[in-house]
Amino acid sequence: MMEYLKEALEVYSQYENYIPSFDEAREILIKEFLDKSDLVKLLNIEDERLIRIMAKKAKKLTEANFGKVIMLFAPLYISNFCQNGCTYCGFSNLKNCPRERLEREQMEIEMKSLKDEGIDSVIILTGEDRVNSDFEYIKSACSVAVDYFSEVSIEVYPLLENEYEELAKIGVVGITIYQETYQKDDYEKLHLFGPKKDYEFRLLTPERALKTGFHEACVGPLLGLSHPEKDAFCAILHAEYLMNKFPKAEISLSFPRFRDANTGFKPSYLVSDKEYIKFLLAARIYLPRVGIVISTRERAALRDALMDICITKMSAGSKTTVGGYATSKDEKLGQFEIDDSRSVSEIVNVIIQKGLRPEFTNWVKGVGKL
Ligand code: SF4
Repeated sequence: MMEYLKEALEVYSQYENYIPSFDEAREILIKEFLDKSDLVKLLNIEDERLIRIMAKKAKKLTEANFGKVIMLFAPLYISNFCQNGCTYCGFSNLKNCPRERLEREQMEIEMKSLKDEGIDSVIILTGEDRVNSDFEYIKSACSVAVDYFSEVSIEVYPLLENEYEELAKIGVVGITIYQETYQKDDYEKLHLFGPKKDYEFRLLTPERALKTGFHEACVGPLLGLSHPEKDAFCAILHAEYLMNKFPKAEISLSFPRFRDANTGFKPSYLVSDKEYIKFLLAARIYLPRVGIVISTRERAALRDALMDICITKMSAGSKTTVGGYATSKDEKLGQFEIDDSRSVSEIVNVIIQKGLRPEFTNWVKGVGKL
């Protein structure tokens, strides 16, 4: 992956400031297969007429490859202990905030609460702390979750291959891992201390998981931390690399934008709605079969507008605090602010009104191994 990324960045640097003409962009948009230079050019488009053409193409490709379906899931934060000094995060070790972790009984209360909302697919999240949420703790949380939900994924610290293997055996199917920024220099400046400083180990995480029997991996940057177009480009190529290497796995992209987490951190870049939308459309057009996830960080109107164009998976009714579904009410202690605070049933209604079908699970338990 490191070599692939290096070569891709060479292509990026050749076209970094190249804004294609209207006609050239249209030529790219009628191609069946795009190359890396086409992708950079699409990411540089500014003309809104072209973005509308991109949206039409993206909608067709999404329907052709995924049908009219939106998968719904929810994050479940079980611990906010973290050893890392990420400058931008509400759970950072730099921050003096109350730390807590859920024990089994509390987890079950949270899970029941989510299940009552109709959620059947969860992502178990922790901060990154091998002492306060060690592997056995994560494994036991997953083994409780697989009893409640059809689909259990994790967004925890990068694990070792044998650890992913153990989780796959108990029924965990997916991993989400954000590289935060693919630009190594900025990565080093943003991550002051802790195991997360190891850029390469993090970058290779989805491969370790997919090798061992995980079915899904979702990757992406945290937009705003570094040059957004460049990070979107690298993330799309990261997904492409994983799709080529693990053709039976489902690879998704997510492009969260930085949201305030009461840390005082000011991102270097602000990513407008127009840029954000363009990144999603470019991802869909370059990789017609990649899953595209949109979280509740984004506002309701934007999520609704994008759901029948390029989105395949949405979080719904999310809380980003430990114990947020049943007990903790102080949302200021969350990992970041959310914007779309509608309930699961409200989101389901919008999906149906748009002529789409809400789905609550992607995998049927116990059927086939990849
Ligand atoms: S981003 Fe993740 S690793 Fe960094 S401080 Fe937040 S929880 Fe910890």
